[in-house]
Amino acid sequence: MPVLVMKFGGTSVATLDRIRRAAKRVGVEVAKGYDVIVIVSAMSGETNKLVGFVEETSPLFDAREYDAVVSSGENVTAGLMALTLQEMDVPARSWQGWQVPLITTSAHANARIEEIPTANITAKFGEGMKVAVVAGFQGISPEGRITTLGRGGSDTTAVAFAAAFGAERCDIYTDVDGVYTTDPRICEKARKLDRIAFEEMLELASLGAKVLQTRSVELAMRYKVKLRVLSSFEEQSDEAGTLVCDEEDIMESNVVAGVAYSRDEAKMTLVTIADRPGIAAAIFGTLADAGVNVDMIVQNVSEKDYKGHEGGVTDMTFSCPVNEVKRAEKALADAQASGKLIFDKLETETNVAKVSVVGIGMRSAAGVAAKMFKVLSNENINIQVITTSEIKISVLIERKYMELAVQALHDAFELDKTS
Ligand code: ASP
Ligand code: MG
Repeated sequence: MPVLVMKFGGTSVATLDRIRRAAKRVGVEVAKGYDVIVIVSAMSGETNKLVGFVEETSPLFDAREYDAVVSSGENVTAGLMALTLQEMDVPARSWQGWQVPLITTSAHANARIEEIPTANITAKFGEGMKVAVVAGFQGISPEGRITTLGRGGSDTTAVAFAAAFGAERCDIYTDVDGVYTTDPRICEKARKLDRIAFEEMLELASLGAKVLQTRSVELAMRYKVKLRVLSSFEEQSDEAGTLVCDEEDIMESNVVAGVAYSRDEAKMTLVTIADRPGIAAAIFGTLADAGVNVDMIVQNVSEKDYKGHEGGVTDMTFSCPVNEVKRAEKALADAQASGKLIFDKLETETNVAKVSVVGIGMRSAAGVAAKMFKVLSNENINIQVITTSEIKISVLIERKYMELAVQALHDAFELDKTS
């Protein structure tokens, strides 16, 4: 039997009614002849609540116990989904991560999937089971402890299962009807894309579009999993939603495919730090060891012969997620106290946001950056940091201009129109 993976996000399993609605959709695919693997998230809001419990109990928590707590939301929905299917006379069974067993690294709270043995579930399909309901987001470490895959990780569970079982497709059911040119809540002209290339989706996801976890897109790209994002709240055809696919499978596309933003950015500057070989390695090594995800980096022009520093001094600016600022500050202060880093002061700004334009068409089109900067200057928005890659340009700006920037860029690149 061909295998189909269907993943239901938190809003799609938020109540018993919604679980029934999702189960009906699963029933439709079973009736078409598929063996279905259903991946469920926790009920919406549940994981946040559990994270809150952990943080309140233990601010610098032991990540193993964090995982023990926050993985539990998915156990509830997996069991309920299996029961709901059984009530509909669809033979179904639930599986927690350890039962599969979905083996991960030991990087608690942010583990990576190492292996998904298919034998257990395949055997059950052979015995007439029609649906395997798997708790998303969780696995088991080589030491035998429960792990989780990072927030939004059930997308990655879904894609990994699709790859492991050679599924025909991996359908991600969510509360939006597909991937948009930008967030429709910010820009009313946002347009749903019928198709988007893996590379573009990867950039959009890592830049803050929350519709898919970044790791899931990486996996889909590597294993060529046909990935579809669609709404669980609308009647669906086989063409509904957005297909994330190879760029060769996209007939026409705009130079810019989408505008992404991330509101929760912070900018930190190490002021007056010795400019000598190894200094960047020392700073960013310290931050990496502390688990801080540094994004943009700018090293300012060196001042020569400052206060007797041989080789001069410089300022180093970087951005990271707002919720990692405390950890970054502590790591840098510790490094300063131990003499590993010598700097005058650390300045932190938490009122910044990142706005990015993404498109594989940029590889061959010149002038996209110039146009982006012009659009922002027309709106009087100051650019604080810039980074680029082959298919994206990101700027860090003051947060209060974020929405304006997104709208102006969406207009300027005419993303409301197909090419
Ligand atoms: N429930 C987890 C979270 O909220 C995983 C997921 O839904 O993808 O992050
Ligand atoms: Mg999600």
